[in-house]
Amino acid sequence: MFALRFMGCLLSALLLAVSACAQRVEGPYGIIGGRVADGFFYVVPVMGGVVLVDTGEEPNGASLRSAIAGRAVLAILVTHAHHDHYASASTFGDVPCYVGPADIDRMRGLTQHQGAAQREYRAQNGGRDRLPPLPVRLIPAPGGTRVTLGGADFEAIALPGHTPGSTAWRMGDVLFGGDAAMNSSTGISPIDDRFSDDPAAARAALGRLDSVPFVWLADGHVGIRRVR
Ligand SMILES: [Zn+2]
Repeated sequence: MFALRFMGCLLSALLLAVSACAQRVEGPYGIIGGRVADGFFYVVPVMGGVVLVDTGEEPNGASLRSAIAGRAVLAILVTHAHHDHYASASTFGDVPCYVGPADIDRMRGLTQHQGAAQREYRAQNGGRDRLPPLPVRLIPAPGGTRVTLGGADFEAIALPGHTPGSTAWRMGDVLFGGDAAMNSSTGISPIDDRFSDDPAAARAALGRLDSVPFVWLADGHVGIRRVR
């Protein structure tokens, strides 16, 4: 019995250690970013609550809820339909969830990811993509969509290529780039080609940012950096 209790305590300690290892970053305007497995979520304070940009892939979203700290979630802005960016979205009930229109069929499993890495995954997993539960209230947000949430304006910028509906979201001088616009040693680039539907299109899409006014880039896997 003692041995079982000891093992239980050890397991609890290990789980706490894993939780404590979650990467947390802080950006301007009280923005908090967090990553437990791989993809980042961002919690953006606005009047009357917070806006989430992506949710990460924890099934219960525990780290995300810790960063939300009891504030009302007004909306979720999804950068794209890869599981590590929206897996927890369905746990927020009917909170509006804005997504690039071309990625909605992807979330529904009606189209499949085309990156080399995702093809390998499917080959080893019965031909199926990783499909998290569908967010309850999906709202198509084509490029140019502007959403005002808690007094803050968010603009959708379509960056197709990583996925067909990849979308960067701009709030003031902060750009949330997902995997389509990431901090890298060479400046701003899409994520590694192996994870993109159409790597050439993903690189070409970055030209759309030339005239977009932002100085902070909060991306899907590196964190927040001042880039301009
Ligand atoms: Zn991705």
